[in-house]
Formats: sequence, C-alpha cells, structure tokens
Amino acid sequence: MSNKLQLVENLDQRLVVEQYLNRIHPEPAVDESRIADLQAQIKRELQAKNAVIIAHYYTDPLIQALAEETGGIVSDSLEMARFGSQHDAETLIVAGVKFMGETAKILTPNKRVLMPTLEATCSLDVGCPADAFAAFCDQHPDRTVVVYANTSAAVKARADWVVTSSIALDVVEHLDSLGKKILWAPDKYLGSYVQGKTGADMLLWDGSCIVHEEFKAKGILDLKAVHPDAAVLVHPESPQSVIDIADAVGSTSQLIAAAVSLPQRKMIVATDQGIFFKMQQAVPDKQLLVAPTGGNGATCRSCANCPWMGMNSLDNLLSALRDGDGEIFVAPEVSALAMKSLGRMLAFREQQANR
Ligand code: SF4
Repeated sequence: MSNKLQLVENLDQRLVVEQYLNRIHPEPAVDESRIADLQAQIKRELQAKNAVIIAHYYTDPLIQALAEETGGIVSDSLEMARFGSQHDAETLIVAGVKFMGETAKILTPNKRVLMPTLEATCSLDVGCPADAFAAFCDQHPDRTVVVYANTSAAVKARADWVVTSSIALDVVEHLDSLGKKILWAPDKYLGSYVQGKTGADMLLWDGSCIVHEEFKAKGILDLKAVHPDAAVLVHPESPQSVIDIADAVGSTSQLIAAAVSLPQRKMIVATDQGIFFKMQQAVPDKQLLVAPTGGNGATCRSCANCPWMGMNSLDNLLSALRDGDGEIFVAPEVSALAMKSLGRMLAFREQQANR
C-alpha cells in the first residue's frame, strides 16, 4: 500500500454490518411446539410403518437427534449403507442426498427406501453424468475404475469399485499393491489426496464438492492466528492447500474421532457445519470453530452448509413417511451391476474388521 493511502483496521465495522444484517434478515423464530408436534407425528409413523431413520452427519440437527432417539443412526455414508442393510425395519427413511438413498436401495432391494426429498443431490453426482463417464472409461480400458460413493447408481454400475472417503486410501493402496492403474471419479481433490498418500497411478475425473472446495487456507490461517492453540480438521474433498495445513484429514467419522483423540481443546473444522451436532456430543468440553470459506472478500463468514443436505426437514420427512413420497427406485439391471462394485467395498471393509 502506498504512503498516501492508509486503511484503518476497524474490526467493529464487521460487527456493525453483522448487526445490520441480523436486523434485516433475522433468524426465523423457532416454533418449539410445532417442532414437538412434528417429532411426535414422525415417531408414530415410524412405529406404524416399521421404519427407521438413517441420517447423515450434515443434516439438520433436529433430524439427527430424532434418528438417535428412535433407534436409527447418524453416520457417514459407509456406515449408513451398512446399518440399513442389517436393520430389520421394512422401511428405511434416508435423510441425506439421493445417492445415499440409491445405495440403501441397491443393498436392500426388498425394503422400501424413502427420502424426505428426491431433489437433494450432490455436485459430485451432478458433475459426473453416466454417459460421459462411461465414454471416459471406454477410453481407458486398462484402468480399474474406482468411484466415490457420491455418484449415481448408473455410475456405480460402470465401476469396478465404490469407495467412501473413510476407506478410499485403503482400497487404492490395495489395488496399487496388485499393480493396478486406476481411473478415479468424480472428486479431483479427494483423488489427488489419495494419489499423494499412496503413490498409485491415478487418472482423475474433474469433479468437486461445492461446499469443501470453498475452504481457503488463507482464511483458516487467519483464524488460526487468533486461536494458535486450535487444531485444524479437514475433509479430503477440500483443496490441497487446505489439506496441507491440517492437523487431521479424514472422512466425517474420522474427523469426529480426531476431535476426540487430539490433545487440543479447540478445533477449527473444515467440513459442513452439520457435523457439529455429533462432534460436540463427542467432545462436550472442547470448542469447535467453523472454518472460514470465503477469504477476505466474501459476503459470508462461512458457507459450509451443503444446500442439498439442507433440503431435508422434519416436514418433508413426515410427509415421506406418511404419504410414501420420495420413494427410491433403481432399475434392476443397474442395481445388479452397482451391487458388484458396492459389494467389493463392503467385503473389503469386513476383511479389514476381521483382521
Ligand atoms: S457436502 Fe459436497 S459432497 Fe457432500 S452432498 Fe453436499 S455437495 Fe455433495
């Protein structure tokens, strides 16, 4: 900055702006009695329909709490898939995004799988259309096709393996030890992270998560300067520059485990804010800080909220249960093929657990 131009740092400015925004866009008032009424209705429907809620860590904490209270589960996509396939309920209500409902249906074709909304998808799924992906695979017949769980059933059907972020490193390491060259899709950041860790020969599809891609190393380092005693927890769908400054990198479940095991009392968390519900349960005496996403010029302090996960609510969960809205169907031929690639992941996980 030249000597003639001076910028006076005034942090109160931000406070004034925040107060102004809170005034013109106040948080909607929480109607406790309406929430209690919805929860009671959902509980009745769960019993009447012999149904169980399977919720992802990124969904509304009200849904996560209800899933736990009613004998369901809150977890990452790998555990969601396993839990649904082993539970006795006739109906699975999957609160998350569409590929999670499809995965549940593929693993348990005899059960009814409902979702609060079928509109809830994922930028990784949308950015990897089945036809274009199949053509890409056809161009590289010498490669083993490994796809991330955040893909459509049709993309899984074209793959040799499906992986979640909690098992991706182990599967790729295993394939590399067998001398396999890998075609990876769709998340380029997770793919690049896995490649860096394993040294495997990997060809990457150019996809990304619009939530994790927004985390910025600069913003996190600025926050770390204010809280030098904080650990940085990062999901590997984030850019490499963010992964480079992390104290722990991992899937949602692995980040919760890291919050427990790391000695620091404060955590800067670079993933969707929905995870705070379960993470805070696991570390009630630690302080969780939202990692900034936008850098200095952003209009929000953190945009770490998946817009699709946010479409799940108590209202649409109730109507799905009551009226059968949002049922998931997967064509049998697609399902049979996708089951092979999913089955490899589940068998691999089972082998690991029995070692
Ligand atoms: S957070 Fe990202 S990866 Fe997860 S569902 Fe949303 S867009 Fe997809």
